[in-house]
Amino acid sequence: MATRQSDRTALVSASACSVEIFVHALLLLLILLPLTTLVFPFLAFHVGVSLLNSNLSADWHQWKKGSAPQELAVLSDGQEIALAIGFTVSTLAASVLGYRRHVRQPETGSSDTRRYLSPKGERGRALIARIEALWSEIALQSATPPEVLWFPGAAVLARAMTRSNRFAVAVSTGLWEIINRDDLVAKVVVLHELAHLSYGDPLTFVRLKALLDAGTRTLARMFRVLIFTILFLIAHQFIATHRGHMGAAPIIRQTLMIGGIGLLALSICPVSAAMIKRYIGLITSLIELRADVRSAQWAGGLERFAEILANYPMVHRSTFSDRTRSWFSLGLTHLSESERLQIVRHPERLLTPKVQYFFFSLILVLLLPVNGLTPLFEGGIVDLAAVVTVASALTITVSTMLLLAGATSIRISLSRLFALSMCSVLFTAACQINFYTLTYSLSTVAVEIGLPGRSATLSWNNVSADTIPAFHDIGHQLLIIWSGGWIICGVLITMVAFGALLTAARRLRRINRSSSWPLIVIATATGVGVLLDGYDPWRTFTLENTVLGRAFVGWAGVTAHFPGIRFTLGPWLALASVIILVVIDLGLGVYRSANLKELS
Ligand SMILES: [Zn+2]
Repeated sequence: MATRQSDRTALVSASACSVEIFVHALLLLLILLPLTTLVFPFLAFHVGVSLLNSNLSADWHQWKKGSAPQELAVLSDGQEIALAIGFTVSTLAASVLGYRRHVRQPETGSSDTRRYLSPKGERGRALIARIEALWSEIALQSATPPEVLWFPGAAVLARAMTRSNRFAVAVSTGLWEIINRDDLVAKVVVLHELAHLSYGDPLTFVRLKALLDAGTRTLARMFRVLIFTILFLIAHQFIATHRGHMGAAPIIRQTLMIGGIGLLALSICPVSAAMIKRYIGLITSLIELRADVRSAQWAGGLERFAEILANYPMVHRSTFSDRTRSWFSLGLTHLSESERLQIVRHPERLLTPKVQYFFFSLILVLLLPVNGLTPLFEGGIVDLAAVVTVASALTITVSTMLLLAGATSIRISLSRLFALSMCSVLFTAACQINFYTLTYSLSTVAVEIGLPGRSATLSWNNVSADTIPAFHDIGHQLLIIWSGGWIICGVLITMVAFGALLTAARRLRRINRSSSWPLIVIATATGVGVLLDGYDPWRTFTLENTVLGRAFVGWAGVTAHFPGIRFTLGPWLALASVIILVVIDLGLGVYRSANLKELS
């Protein structure tokens, strides 16, 4: 009985991991990648085209001795936009082609230089038989067993992959040796790889890598366009100043000015590249965790799995730097071994989002507006979209995973619920933080450096007069979020909502748990709530005339008087949708028993 219980926990934990992966992957595909591959390049190209157009048009008119009005640019606004769209579409097309090439030939550009060989002879047949036996334990009867390969290496290693459209698992000679001795660790390592194959992970890894590659290439092209624009402006200014015989000082000052503002604009490329990379890295580590959980189920439960690995002397004990890496690394693919064991050991952590690792993604997204380009577009709606994505992904995973946790007998502790509520509230509240005034004041400093004929040289007083209000502003924003301590009340209110959601989820008996629509309903409700909560009146955009816009403004108006309930709507809408599901569930039950009576 106990084994069946732990089996079930492992199975539900694997589904919970799948839900977590799915939500993050969906938001990455729907919001973050379109922003980086479409919206940001468009903004960069548009700004570049406009600057070139206005400067070159002015030159052209000057050269023609002012035969036309000075303001008349060669290209109209519409033509500028069309040109920027043209550049964006061609960049996107190049990225899509790169992505397809990458997915079709994953081997090229891969860092894996190992030679994989087919096992031969008596020992080879024994290895294949052993792996096929493990496969038959986990996969459907109809599923073809993977091709078995080996590679030289003393370490205990295995790798799941696709080779010419067929799944394969490769083991090191070190692993092969201990498999023959029926070693438990060897079994766990192979099961982990087979779990990857059963979820089709090798293909997902290839796709994620291709997406990252396509995104980075787009950002690199955008970076070159921005650099070109900045260099053009510097050269243009240099020629103009030189012709006016104004000496070296103004040239240096203006170069510093354009360079300074340019540097802020350029920051969009590394920040968004880091954002995408970290997000994809996190999804990859969640996929790894899911393979652990799935293999744990076959190895006889989570506890047993953790025990097998913990007793194995070669399992590396994570150091402080390993943990920092899990928190902040951009090249993340696996959480450190101790962290994985800790998570696997505590089902409540498996069944709820791994919130701490999303903190850094949020910070990266918050840094986006510093570039100064994105705030120009519709009052900065794209920055808001990026940060709301991370916040809603987190809260959606909390509510949907709690729904799944309701299907197990695992108790989610109050401290875990508190931590989840705090993250949900803080992440939603963070949508309100924006660094526009900081960007603006840094640009002002740059302009002051470059202003020609300014008598006072740049002094510390000037710089501080320009920048200190920006820090005051950020402090003010934080104070608004804190709202006199009411935010703590918000965390507690959220905790009540999550706790009630978990209790209600335990009552959901009849609605088929294997169907995904209850999850979709609750995810949508949570997402809408976070979207409304994340609305920032300072990042105005032209949505006020739409239904959604009115909802935003209405909700902002209501919560303005009740700071405590701000940032809690997502969890409460999630709870409301679960209660509706429970009522439907009860109704179905009554309906069915009535039917049974009629039959008898
Ligand atoms: Zn793995």
